[in-house]
This record gives sequence, C-alpha cells and structure tokens, in this order.
Amino acid sequence: MVKCSFCSAQAVYVNRVSGLAYCRRHFIEYFERKARKAIRKYHMLSPGDKVVVGVSGGKDSMALLHLLLKIKKKIPRLEVVAVLVDEGIKGYREKTIPNLVKYAKKQGVKYLIASFRDYVGATLDEIVERGSEYKLPYMPCSYCGVFRRYVLNTVARELGARIIATAHNMDDVVQTYIMNLVNNSWDRVVSLAPVRESSEEYIVKRIKPFYEIPEKETALYSLLNNLIQPEFIQCPYVKYNVRFTIRKLLNELEENHPGSKYGLLRSLLELIEMGRKHKIIEKKYTRCIICGNPASQAICRACLFRAQLNLLRESEKALLRESIEKHPELHRLLSKMNTP
Ligand SMILES: [Zn+2]
Ligand SMILES: [Zn+2]
Repeated sequence: MVKCSFCSAQAVYVNRVSGLAYCRRHFIEYFERKARKAIRKYHMLSPGDKVVVGVSGGKDSMALLHLLLKIKKKIPRLEVVAVLVDEGIKGYREKTIPNLVKYAKKQGVKYLIASFRDYVGATLDEIVERGSEYKLPYMPCSYCGVFRRYVLNTVARELGARIIATAHNMDDVVQTYIMNLVNNSWDRVVSLAPVRESSEEYIVKRIKPFYEIPEKETALYSLLNNLIQPEFIQCPYVKYNVRFTIRKLLNELEENHPGSKYGLLRSLLELIEMGRKHKIIEKKYTRCIICGNPASQAICRACLFRAQLNLLRESEKALLRESIEKHPELHRLLSKMNTP
C-alpha cells in the first residue's frame, strides 16, 4: 500500500514525474490548484463573465463543470451555463445525458441540451450515412468536431455568453498537436493555444482550463467526485480515428518515459509563442455569410458541410445564392447542391 506524501492516508494516485503520492483529499486539492493556476496564468476568466461549458456528460467535461461551479464562488458574478451537445450517436449518449441532467438539477446549474438534429439538421448517424451516400471524403470525427464547435458557437451567441470553456486536457492537446505535425498543418497549431480570443464581437473567447492536466487526472477527479459511472462507453466511431493510433503511441511513450507529454506541450507553447511574435502562423477570420460564426472563407466549415450534405434550410440557401456575385467561388458548391 502506498501512503500519501502529505498525510498518513492511503494514496489513490502517484504522479510518476514528481514521484509524489496523493490520497483522495490531497489529490482533489492538487488537481484544483493546478486548474486554478492555469486559469489565472492564461487570464481565462474575469468577474462578471458568462461562460458556456461544453459538456458531453463524459468524464472530462463533468470534471470541468464541477470545477467551474467551485470556482464560481470565488469569482464575483461569474455565470456558468452547461450546454450539452447531443450528436445523435445511437447507443452512445443514452447514459451520459441523464447523468448530466441529474447533476445539473442537484447543483442548481443552468443547462441546455443542444442537438445536432436541431442545430445542424440531422443526427451524426444520419450525417455519416448521407456523407457516404453522397461520396463525401470526410471521416465521422471530422463532421463531429466541426459541428460540435458550430453548435457551441451558435448557442453561446444566442445566450449572449462571451466565453466557451471546453474540457480539452493535456492529452487531447498533445494528440492534436502531433496530428497537425503529421498533416503538416502548421496554421492549425495556433488554435491549440490555452486561450483564443479576438477583438471581433462575433468571435467568442475559447478557454481550456485543463490544458496542463493529463487525462488520467481528469478521469480520476471525476471518479473521486462521483461525477460519472466507472463504466466507460467508447464512441462507436473511434476506430476510424487517426487520433486513436496517436493516443496509443503517446501513452506508450509516456509509460516508458514519464514527462514526455508535458515536454511536447511545452514545445507546442513555445511554437505558438514564436508564431505570434513573428506573425507567421496567425489565422485571419471573417464572418460566415450563412451562420455568422467565424470562418476562414466566405462560409464556415460547418455550413460548407451542411451545404454538401444538403442540410441547409431554404432561407440559408437563399443567402448563399445572394452572395454568389461577391463570392464566385461558391458557384461550384451551389451547382453541386440539389436545389429545388
Ligand atoms: Zn493525503
Ligand atoms: Zn457558417
């Protein structure tokens, strides 16, 4: 039995980098201290902020919601709204949604369920099916990631919230970093900063309070606070995912060389800083002509996907047609769409 390094209780966690062991109480303290430190260091939250927390009902996002509700007491007039994005994946969200609803009711936190069906026009299962029917070259996770961001942005703007907090942990960030290196997508590396903000009114600030916390620790924090059931349901689409392979590789690396993930995170932060200084990887945004969310072209990726999947509403198609003169590049897209 390993003992806590700070008291005589039994340890529930050993940090392999520092060698320190933690009991339940001291682990929770350590975890919350680390998250608070990141929030301060990267200037994530200020008094009076209204924050939308993207929740899936899974371990990371429940941990984030729990943490922000604790922090709320220390930041004056901080408002927290939990937004549960229901992608519509059969057999995947049946347990997590009731789990979040139960928690939100108990804690008296405002929550909202935003489904792909309502905001995008179809469930992810339908989208994947339609995508292969239309022979579109995208993987399920590409749709899912793009549409999740789209739903959260849209809901935040509807609620008048200026900040979206997501539960991306250190493992998520480092995996995406490696994926971007593999794809040679340097421009996307900037979007991996712990905070992204802009002076533009329509661009909602995005924060990742778990940026420096490994997945193991967010999972344990969730378990120790009884935020989730120990049984874990894996997304059925995970097998199509490059991330899955990279995750396995990184875990093996960390196992044999503790501290490797943190090393990669530090190299990422340095890269972002260099990019900022020399303005080489700064991404420019415009406003999507259809939905008004940030976009790197005339229309955002979510609206592009929706157009290709024939999920745009009539009013949205009309907007697209009106913009053809200003944006001739949209011609090809429109001509491919099944317009009535
Ligand atoms: Zn202890
Ligand atoms: Zn759009």
